[in-house]
Amino acid sequence: MITNIDKLTENGCGTEKTDKVCRSRGGESCAFDGAMIVLQPIADAAHVVHGPIACCGNSWEGRGSLSKKGSLHRMGFTTDMSELDIIYGSEEKLFHAIRKIFDEVRPKAIFVYSTCVSGLIGEDIDAVCRRAETVLGIRVIPVNAPGFVGPKNLGNRIAGEVLLDHVIGTGEPPSVTGYDINLIGEYNIAGDLWLTEPILEKAGLKVLSRMTGDATFEEITWAHRAKLNVVVCSRALINVAKEM
Ligand code: SF4
Repeated sequence: MITNIDKLTENGCGTEKTDKVCRSRGGESCAFDGAMIVLQPIADAAHVVHGPIACCGNSWEGRGSLSKKGSLHRMGFTTDMSELDIIYGSEEKLFHAIRKIFDEVRPKAIFVYSTCVSGLIGEDIDAVCRRAETVLGIRVIPVNAPGFVGPKNLGNRIAGEVLLDHVIGTGEPPSVTGYDINLIGEYNIAGDLWLTEPILEKAGLKVLSRMTGDATFEEITWAHRAKLNVVVCSRALINVAKEM
């Protein structure tokens, strides 16, 4: 999936210092957590952590994104890997977890996250996701950002690549205007988007896709139809903005 490391490590906005980009700052969390931060605000999708339960606990509600589009971002789904799962492998356990989540909460899509433990023992989450998609008939998307690959910001960028590779461009909007915009790197933290979006509307701009605060999974599928991409947090998703 990572085809161009430069896209993942380049600077954000012009004021960024190179020594701050994609490098851990003291106390910063891991790449897995960074990927969760970007994708978990999609609240009508389920987010399944394939790893020990502490990874899920580490990332749960880490950012305080609010949503009126669903509540799945507030639920923690994990395979809770144990010693036996590490010894014998747990791809089958992951598949059954995905199926149970689908049966229980009927998400619009499911994101499946690798972690240090599942990544180190070589769990093939891509294969499990493909199999689950075939069986369930919804999008099941692998997020390969185990914590050991780097700091939080690298995970942000990997999550952006996941959106580019698996989500954006896979749907079409019901209607378009000449003033459709995307908001990239806007996470609706504490509901800030609910203050700014009405102002944008008064200015005649329609937010076509939010990435990802207060977003639906579906609206991100048609983000490629926007006339303008507005970057709110370049440090997190400059790679998505440039690709768009
Ligand atoms: S992915 Fe690795 S670094 Fe991140 S929370 Fe899990 S064990 Fe810790």
